[in-house]
Amino acid sequence: MNQPEAGKLSMHGSDIDKQEVGSSDANTEELSKPRILLVEDEDSIADPLAFLLGRERYEVEIAENGRVALEMFEAARARAEDGYDLILLDLMLPEVSGTEVCRRVREKSRVPIIMLTAKDTELDIVVGLERGADDYITKPYSTRELLARVRALLRRSTTSTSAGTLAAASPGATRDTQNTEERQAVLDTHGIRLDTGRHELHVRGMTTPVPLREFELLAYLMENEGRVLTRAQLIDRIWGSDYFGDTKTLDVHIKRIRERIEETPKDPKLVRTVRGVGYRFG
Ligand code: CA
Repeated sequence: MNQPEAGKLSMHGSDIDKQEVGSSDANTEELSKPRILLVEDEDSIADPLAFLLGRERYEVEIAENGRVALEMFEAARARAEDGYDLILLDLMLPEVSGTEVCRRVREKSRVPIIMLTAKDTELDIVVGLERGADDYITKPYSTRELLARVRALLRRSTTSTSAGTLAAASPGATRDTQNTEERQAVLDTHGIRLDTGRHELHVRGMTTPVPLREFELLAYLMENEGRVLTRAQLIDRIWGSDYFGDTKTLDVHIKRIRERIEETPKDPKLVRTVRGVGYRFG
């Protein structure tokens, strides 16, 4: 009898097929290791950072320029449904700029993106946030700060993904979700429909892709419709202790939300500024 090839369907009947399928579960632990794409052209930064992340049990792949980063992003998506779990993205890159990489990744995926920037590139930071990055960190960064941000974004993204899977597996059935912090599944008001289980935003009937933190921020505002939320409350809820910067990140996220949901973003009727205090939905 010939040696059966791994993964090939057996001709001997369904019992053997099931055994072969079952044996692939041994890889689950290996697959669950978070995969990070590190986009950085300077070896003196990329190498120690990759070592550091590897020591924290992340699987790290390095792209040395923007073009390679996009190729690796596409290849990873082709191999696995979601591709990388997080992208660390230098902004000053040869061939294709970091902000352009950000824009093109965000067109296809809501993978968390942390920008790595120099202190004097404030404009780039704003552009990057506008193009869908979730966070940024300025060089030279502290190891502790960087790891904290990576962990926080991965944690949020994992929580959100499993909630989505649960909702997809049993639509309408929420009895299994005993978590008291579980949000209301669907927020629907003023023509804006936010399905927190499926991570979907519908604006006046049109489905719109939205990055994770913008989604969380909008959900928090909508859950508190009619109430003013202070800047501190919003920052604390969405970024928590991971928020190291000034309040620019919050403002940019609010601006992006308005561009997605307001009929006239420059004259917002849904996400209103309460001067000197914060923001209010509705
Ligand atoms: Ca660089």
